Amino acid sequence: MARRESMLLKLLALALAAAPVTAAVTAPAPAGAWHQREAAIMGTRIAVELWSKTDAQGEAAIDAVMAEMNRVDVLMSHYKPESQLSRINAKAGAGPVRVDRELFDLIARSLEFSRLTNGAFDITYASVGYLYDYRHHVKPDEAQIEAHLSSVDWRSLALDPANSTVRFMKPGMRIDLGGFAKGYAVDRSIELLKARGIEHASVSAGGDTRILGDRFGRPWIVGIRHPDDANRVILRIPLENVALSTSGDYERYFDENGVRYHHIIDPRTGHSASKVRSATIIGPTATQTDGLSKTAFVLGPEKALEILSRIPDIDAVFVGPDGKVYYTPGLAPPAK
Ligand code: ADP
Ligand code: MG
Repeated sequence: MARRESMLLKLLALALAAAPVTAAVTAPAPAGAWHQREAAIMGTRIAVELWSKTDAQGEAAIDAVMAEMNRVDVLMSHYKPESQLSRINAKAGAGPVRVDRELFDLIARSLEFSRLTNGAFDITYASVGYLYDYRHHVKPDEAQIEAHLSSVDWRSLALDPANSTVRFMKPGMRIDLGGFAKGYAVDRSIELLKARGIEHASVSAGGDTRILGDRFGRPWIVGIRHPDDANRVILRIPLENVALSTSGDYERYFDENGVRYHHIIDPRTGHSASKVRSATIIGPTATQTDGLSKTAFVLGPEKALEILSRIPDIDAVFVGPDGKVYYTPGLAPPAK
């Protein structure tokens, strides 16, 4: 059942058509220059590349992106005890906690992802997730998981839009927005760039990227890495005006007795979700692609493909435990 409207197919066709005569079809760039910068924010590598008419405008635009990354980091951080998120985790079990509209709307948005993914995406995973510390090789034992697992339940998050409050309806609940925080920060950054008149840009926060415009007649090319070899690319995808997120079990993890403990948690079991090695989602916004990139880890490639191919404008590539690659119909190589 091929999706006729796949934006990726269109882009792939466009790239192939352009390939033999690249120089001839590449539009001449107007006066200006590419600007690039990297920084370490949100516990990851932030990379910004954009085209700007003047150097001053380009550098100011990158400054604005970095400031926005820092702002979202503070908003969503659970490390900082004074953050709104920490206040929710400390107090929402006892009664409603009032938060800024932006944070409220994000929490509300997370419930949409939970609904769409049959609960694979669940910000209350943190009720168990906080017991893991990948850097120090700490994991909960079965008794600890058992004691906390019933608090993992997105349906027990009570949101009151009129008062902008959040309340936990079960004891021991916690939330963590790390599952789409970077995607959201990337989307916010792209909006900022657009408002400044930037028309060609790429913004990444770790595995979450959003692309604005093209590279003057050519698409941007984004590579998906091999799960076991950071230097090997399994697929190169030409992209324009789209977001792409890759989640992998090789990002934050430790191995013990042949088992990999990594940072995506199955909300049903409290264990690392290992039904795929990596999942890449392509779609209109990075908040969406980041949120949806957990689905296949938790539900497995077949079930995830079924869910994702029903969502408009979403494409996906998964690498299974045995190295098998799965695609949504819009991305699959054409049948010979
Ligand atoms: P990154 O943190 O580098 O963006 P991912 O996009 O793969 O990596 O997201 C992993 C993060 O998602 C975890 O560190 C955690 O904060 C969060 N998370 C883990 N499991 C879930 C889940 N089942 N639902 C929602 N968020 C999750
Ligand atoms: Mg992410």
